[in-house]
Amino acid sequence: MMIPIPEQSLVLLIGPSGSGKSTLANAHFLPEDVLPGTGNEAKLHDEVARRLKQGTLTVIDGVPLSAESRRHYVTLAREHHVALVAVAMDTPEPLCLERNRTRTGSHASPRALRNQVQQLQNALKGLTKEGIRHVHVLTPETMEAVAFEHRPLPSHRQDEHGPFDIIGDIHGCFDELKALLTELGYTVAPRADGAPGFDVGAPHGRKVVFLGDLVDRGPGVTNVLRLAMGMVEAGTALCVPGNHEIKLLKKLRGKDVRVGRGLAMTLEQLEREPPGFSQAVADFIEARFPHYVLDDGHLVVAHAGLKEPMHGRDTPEVRDFALYGETTGEADAYGLPVRADWAQQYRGQAMVVYGHTSVPESEWVNNTVCLDTGCVFGGKLTALRYPERELVSVPAQRAYWESRGHAAP
Ligand code: ATP
Ligand code: MG
Repeated sequence: MMIPIPEQSLVLLIGPSGSGKSTLANAHFLPEDVLPGTGNEAKLHDEVARRLKQGTLTVIDGVPLSAESRRHYVTLAREHHVALVAVAMDTPEPLCLERNRTRTGSHASPRALRNQVQQLQNALKGLTKEGIRHVHVLTPETMEAVAFEHRPLPSHRQDEHGPFDIIGDIHGCFDELKALLTELGYTVAPRADGAPGFDVGAPHGRKVVFLGDLVDRGPGVTNVLRLAMGMVEAGTALCVPGNHEIKLLKKLRGKDVRVGRGLAMTLEQLEREPPGFSQAVADFIEARFPHYVLDDGHLVVAHAGLKEPMHGRDTPEVRDFALYGETTGEADAYGLPVRADWAQQYRGQAMVVYGHTSVPESEWVNNTVCLDTGCVFGGKLTALRYPERELVSVPAQRAYWESRGHAAP
């Protein structure tokens, strides 16, 4: 049995006295990662909050066996966007009793133990419903063989220092992409080996970062995909997915999605490609991470941006924010979700570069910048040179798509 432990997790060890919580903690975690779950509760909660804010793995040995105690940790994990993992020790009462009889130090009385065993059985029915996403139940047998796999978060790429050329929403505007890359000093040529795709030469160790929404609406979707996929494979680009890629992925994996006109254009273009290409596209999208923290934490890239407490975190909420942004729950005159302006509230140190919502001009707002300048609507395709902080744009050759809200010229 293997239990994955993401780099930043709050791990709750739950079980009656003598069930083996401390033994498990000793065997599988570093002493500095483990906090005893008993004692001064307020102090413990403060300490846990402090650790989670820093993203430090925290294991609580012996969370009191009440729903109320667990609720607090559910809230803390949510607030700090870390994974919450419960490991419940389902050790039979006679065995706990026997172990407690022969051990030294303090532990529960037989009567208290009986109560705890009952409380654990009740808890086992409802841990998931309490909002704990990862629940693992260990028995004395599985305890012997269990392994914990510490997983680094793939968004952490602080060791990538660039320099970068970060490119906003392309939406199949291949001609403009080629023009922009050329303007940035890259060379784009058909692949030398004759296979479909492109050889892209990067100037002076620079790297492209694609901000997602490469597909849909525009005429050159498959060429954009081939170019981006080739560059990522060659190590000359990073790419985060946009909401349009995620929807395409669902469609390619056979899920039931509503196919709008923009996605239909992508599907038509994919149909003209050799067999296997769609599969390769789906695999490519699936392997992407919704955001990256780059350059010692000075730069964060995500399709729809990311507020500071979510930087370098990985929960479904963080993924959703990176892909779709923050919405207020209201709809605008066109029935589209009203987007809350996280950038106006942003006070973080890291520069956040994103796309998603098209703007006439890229403008700096509290060290954040949106590079979606509506190329597919007839605007322009924009890149940010990092660390130079220089914006470079090429105009759209024409409007390929009419946007709701601001009509294309
Ligand atoms: P408490 O809630 O009282 O702190 P605990 O769940 O932390 O209990 P442990 O201290 O890990 O329980 O284990 C209680 C006793 O049982 C210890 O003396 C320990 O050595 C023994 N023990 C734990 N696990 C095993 C095991 N798998 N096989 C044999 N003995 C074990
Ligand atoms: Mg213990």
